Amino acid sequence: MSHKIMAINAGSSSLKFQLLEMPQGRLLCQGLIERIGMAEAQVTLKTPEQKWQETQRIADHREAVTLLLEKLISHQIIASLQDIDGVGHRVAHGGETFRDSALVNDHTLAEIERLAELAPLHNPVNLLGINVFRQLLPATPSVAVFDTAFHQTLDESAYIYPLPWRYYAEMGIRRYGFHGTSHKYVSATLAEKLGVPLSALRVVVCHLGNGSSLCAIKEGRSVNTSMGFTPLSGVMMGTRSGDIDPSILPWIAQREGKTPQEINQLLNGESGLLGVSGVSHDYRDVEQAADAGNPRAALALTLFAERIRATIGSYIMQMGGLDALIFTGGIGENSARARAAICRDLQFLGLKVDEEKNQHNATFIQDDNSVVKVAVINTNEELTIARDVMRIALNETA
Ligand code: ADP
Repeated sequence: MSHKIMAINAGSSSLKFQLLEMPQGRLLCQGLIERIGMAEAQVTLKTPEQKWQETQRIADHREAVTLLLEKLISHQIIASLQDIDGVGHRVAHGGETFRDSALVNDHTLAEIERLAELAPLHNPVNLLGINVFRQLLPATPSVAVFDTAFHQTLDESAYIYPLPWRYYAEMGIRRYGFHGTSHKYVSATLAEKLGVPLSALRVVVCHLGNGSSLCAIKEGRSVNTSMGFTPLSGVMMGTRSGDIDPSILPWIAQREGKTPQEINQLLNGESGLLGVSGVSHDYRDVEQAADAGNPRAALALTLFAERIRATIGSYIMQMGGLDALIFTGGIGENSARARAAICRDLQFLGLKVDEEKNQHNATFIQDDNSVVKVAVINTNEELTIARDVMRIALNETA
């Protein structure tokens, strides 16, 4: 029996959604409401056949969800609200509580709220999204899908920071990792495409977008990941620095009299590709500038690739080898140049990319003689969310 499942991603001023027919995974409608709370919010709705776009004032998330549900009915995408069989919500932080997605109930809501301390910008707005849907669709089950849950399989040696113990014991400061839904989806898809159980593979996933993270997967479990206590750490990103010498922070704070919030903004919003190139946070813009001869843009691209290579290298050491490397996210899925730069000179590992397949964004881009498979897999977090709703709220596999 097929079900209509809604996958929701609520941000501070936006609401992204997909309505999927499951278990087929058929996209019925997707959309985005942007600039919620501002004078001119923009509502975009798309079905495979049609697109609607309009601008209007939307005061808050409650109004946004109400409007979205009304539009689904008025555009005859659903006949009534009862057509929606389940709702899945992306939630940023599940702390050490959630090792898997969870059915939304009072306990789940209380925990998400408690964990807001660890993700103050995201968990509260995710919670708001869940509550608004619960009010408008009181009889429809919902599931919270956590960015961190997939990484709860990390060993202590991968998640403990070498700080005084009480920071972990009393404040929960440890590596959590993010992008878990994407890492899980693309690694499962790879195993399916290869016809091999994921448990038999040693995989590194490179999720490269505005935010980027890597994940090492062994015996089907995440065993390491590059983002940490927050999504700032690890590889270099669009505007985030990734790992740097931590002493730089107090040094800059003292020299420039910056507050912790200002330092946070510097590292999260002004660094990475943008900071080094001085051109843009967007990989395509930086590529263009590099091609036009801008040396800092060229350096930014090199740094981006080198930091990823270093991380992949450490994961190969940890896993004792590598069977497959996966590229996903806007950059990973589309930039042949990024993939080539990351995979250069790895024949000693048995990894070689076929440049023609790479240029075509083929699913498998390794050379025929390469022992290590190199895959380009489009991520689909919404489908993973919908599958979790089917499994957890409706007891059906998808
Ligand atoms: P987010 O982390 O916000 O979800 P995306 O996964 O959408 O980000 O990735 C955005 C990044 O992908 C941008 O840096 C963008 O320049 C890059 N990107 C998208 N398409 C291409 C392309 N064809 N070639 C190179 N980079 C691309």
